[in-house]
Amino acid sequence: MSTPSPLVGVAAALASQPPTRTVFSQFSLTGKVALVTGGGRGIGLEVAAGFAEAGATAYCLDLSKQPDDDFVTAQKFVAQMPPLANNVKNGRIEYISGDVTDQKQMWKVAEDIVAKEGRLDICFANAGILAGADCLEYSAEDFTKILNVNVNGVLYTAQAAGRQMEKLGIQGSIILTASMSGSISNQNQKWVAYTTSKSAVIQMARSMACELGPKGIRVNSLSPGYIYTKMTKAFLDSHTDLMEEWCSQNPLGRLGRPDELRGVCLWLASDASTFCTGSDIIVDGGHRAW
Ligand code: NAD
Repeated sequence: MSTPSPLVGVAAALASQPPTRTVFSQFSLTGKVALVTGGGRGIGLEVAAGFAEAGATAYCLDLSKQPDDDFVTAQKFVAQMPPLANNVKNGRIEYISGDVTDQKQMWKVAEDIVAKEGRLDICFANAGILAGADCLEYSAEDFTKILNVNVNGVLYTAQAAGRQMEKLGIQGSIILTASMSGSISNQNQKWVAYTTSKSAVIQMARSMACELGPKGIRVNSLSPGYIYTKMTKAFLDSHTDLMEEWCSQNPLGRLGRPDELRGVCLWLASDASTFCTGSDIIVDGGHRAW
């Protein structure tokens, strides 16, 4: 049984407590520390900046030795945020160079964050790669490359954070980036390695949630639909008719923006979702509703 939560909502009313607005504070990440992989750009950077706006210190890990311009600009933007409240330290984003496919390195990254910050509450295991090939021709090397980043790398990241949460007795939240491609096959795409990898991530979240639930650590997966990032742009640039096709495949008639994942990730990372674990949260503009 976890520590009893302070009374909120109707329970607070029935206990005759003074009326206090608690619903927004349940989303607060003040004082919390996050590890975000693939955090140098795209969905990872957007979500990390959102975590920092909500008060967290978010460590963004990515492959390049130095952060690129998008990261540096976002870092300055976050640093210039007005204070959250009097005497409350604002969140921030920091860059770490690393490779999620290196298990030992990932475990060490999480150890180092804890050595510096004293805690690790949130993990967004988000780094992923996309490539396609005919399913009957997919080379072992290319198939393994996708699985190594999208599956093994996600496991090593979640392990790294989970080990620290367990050690420190932190009831943390681990979010694994899957995709709608983990539950459906993308029409007209030859993405067998990618779709296979994302199915594995959804199942990884369920398995880890069941193992770590008794320790109070929650694990969920996030399944976005098509989101306009450098990953999708690279694909769309080389397939000119595809933008219109993808937009027509969901009832909202457009691609999503990375910032449209901030809310759901903040909800999953924060105390607003304390009873949610082992779930796959789909944010796809209704793509799968058809
Ligand atoms: P992106 O390419 O813009 O960002 C991914 C980041 O991961 C890059 O900065 C890349 O350098 C990093 N990365 C790749 N391999 C790495 C490694 N071995 N170690 C550390 N970092 C590594 O892509 P994005 O669109 O922001 O996608 C982020 C995640 O969301 C991915 O897992 C992707 O599969 C998933 N996703 C994206 C979409 C979409 O439409 N964009 C939809 C569903 C799921």
